[in-house]
Amino acid sequence: MKHFDVIVVGGGHAGAEAAHASARMGARTALVTLRRDSIGVMSCNPAIGGLGKGHLVREVDAMDGIMGLAADRAGIQFRLLNRRKGPAVQGPRAQADRKLYREAVQALLAARPGLTIIEGEVADLTEAGGAVTGLVLADGSTIAARAVVLTTGTFLRGTIHIGDVRRPGGRMGDKPSVRLAERLESMGLPMGRLKTGTPPRLDGRTIDWARLEMQPGDDDPVVFSFLNRTPEARQIACGITHTNEATHQIIRDNLARSAMYGGHIEGVGPRYCPSVEDKVVRFSDKTSHQVFLEPEGLDDHTVYPNGISTSLPQDVQEAYVRTIAGLERATILQPGYAIEYDYIDPRALGETLELKVLPGLYLAGQINGTTGYEEAAAQGLVAGLNAALSVQGGGRSIFGRADGYIGVMVDDLVTRGVSEPYRMFTSRAEFRLSLRADNADQRMTPLGIAAGCVGEQRRRAFGEKMDAIASGRRMLEALVLTPKQASEQGLRVSQDGVRRNGFTLLSFPDICFADLVRIQPELGAIPGPIQRQIECDALYAQYLDRQAADIDQVRRDEEHEIPGDFDYLSISGLSTELKTKLTQRRPKTLAQAGRVDGMTPAALTLILARLRKGDRRRSAG
Ligand code: FAD
Repeated sequence: MKHFDVIVVGGGHAGAEAAHASARMGARTALVTLRRDSIGVMSCNPAIGGLGKGHLVREVDAMDGIMGLAADRAGIQFRLLNRRKGPAVQGPRAQADRKLYREAVQALLAARPGLTIIEGEVADLTEAGGAVTGLVLADGSTIAARAVVLTTGTFLRGTIHIGDVRRPGGRMGDKPSVRLAERLESMGLPMGRLKTGTPPRLDGRTIDWARLEMQPGDDDPVVFSFLNRTPEARQIACGITHTNEATHQIIRDNLARSAMYGGHIEGVGPRYCPSVEDKVVRFSDKTSHQVFLEPEGLDDHTVYPNGISTSLPQDVQEAYVRTIAGLERATILQPGYAIEYDYIDPRALGETLELKVLPGLYLAGQINGTTGYEEAAAQGLVAGLNAALSVQGGGRSIFGRADGYIGVMVDDLVTRGVSEPYRMFTSRAEFRLSLRADNADQRMTPLGIAAGCVGEQRRRAFGEKMDAIASGRRMLEALVLTPKQASEQGLRVSQDGVRRNGFTLLSFPDICFADLVRIQPELGAIPGPIQRQIECDALYAQYLDRQAADIDQVRRDEEHEIPGDFDYLSISGLSTELKTKLTQRRPKTLAQAGRVDGMTPAALTLILARLRKGDRRRSAG
């Protein structure tokens, strides 16, 4: 029988990250997966990152994980989302060449010492003395380990739906994992069903690109990894088109044939990633929805039409696709489909993602009710790291909500559970001014070094960067100007008699590093990336104390009563969905409002601010 310290089951995004993290920690690690060649497969959209998700990728990278490195190798279009807004809500995103991404993940795993890849279906777990001791493969062979990480994604009792046709499948082309699901159920774990869907894939040679608006990537691409500066692959543009009334009419006429609307699926789907059927029904006043046509690779004709995921029958998919401008003659290479699968209520887990009832068994990724590659990778990191620590007797590595989005997600999952597939948004974090994508290394790399999962190359690069930031800040702090001197130099600051140093001056939105270089040319010797980092740090420095005070206030005010006629509809910044839910449910206190599905710390702060305004008015009157 083979023996390992840690076995990771599944070669998706959670599994790859968990196995790499465990091996980085020095644990003898095996990655057992159904097919070696499908390690790192992107089951759905060929893209990594985005708002909130891009923050997670940066945090995984800061801990020396692999998702950012793979995305940089495979990225064929990089865009920094929300570029015009502040750095706190900017999210790096890259469209990826599917094949290059898979190859990059496989190469990064192959290059990792201490990691063995085994092809096979895991059918059972072994345990002794109330703790996990290994697993059994479908061919009857057993592998021993002191910790096991399950990352089986959408495979547990997966069922694929296309219209009223259903068949077992973990995703298109793969069989589901039934025996393992039955084993988990027999342990009495709290389980449920969720669903997600994917659009039809189109043949790019049959798309009339000349008719379409094209969207290029950014001129100065922002990559994911703190170790990289520029993309590796050739960069390409995407096409943009729109659905129209004719598309919507076909969908409306065939709703009863949709797996989701025809009553064939019981699982709950991702509200934030709706199918085209959902969009037509839920937003019935909209006559058009945007569709991004994303090439799946540099040497691949397949195109992913982002925005029209569906579970309608194939003939209906063909009909509605052809109503869309530029797609009149488009051929479908693979129909869209929905998949329904088992998940385990993550409240059964502790903060290390270890199951409370079976020590040594960790769960990460879509199996915990999340959706998305990035959410999966971040959980894989937490589980792999902690599984290795547990067998090494080295304690636990736990991330708090103030450390990073990883901490926010784990805390949300294990304390609140999920009522629909969980995805990351910046609004889920109460500390979002400090939890930025640009400073993920400053927040997380020291935690990774302390835990032991950061290698020499990154440790050195991080140390050099922090030294450069510290020396840049010292130079800035030595430049001190009175308000009069500042305005003589063309800088707009309040004429309040306060002398300000260069770092403080950078917190004014109208003042940038180049202005200070003009005043003191030696500052120009600070490298460009360090200048930009110091600019971001300075911009937010003054808000951080206020942010912490706001959060404390919300916690203290949890019992604050909310009047029965409180007007949620007029609070700007609150989503329409929350306005509707709160108006219907009428929570009596702020604590009750906090338990409404989809409530975020940012939204609670807005409600509290409005309540206080009401209190002040009443006491003034
Ligand atoms: P996966 O990537 O699913 O990997 C699971 C791995 O486990 C696979 O390697 C599999 O071979 C292995 N495995 C399973 N069972 C066993 C077993 N018994 N023994 C050995 N190995 C096993 N995400 C979004 O963000 N937005 C979307 O719109 C979206 N739509 C999706 C649509 C579809 C149809 C599918 C299938 C997924 C979609 N996703 C979407 C989800 C995204 O693909 C997942 O969130 C992500 O891949 C989850 O990563 P994971 O590592 O948890 O699992």
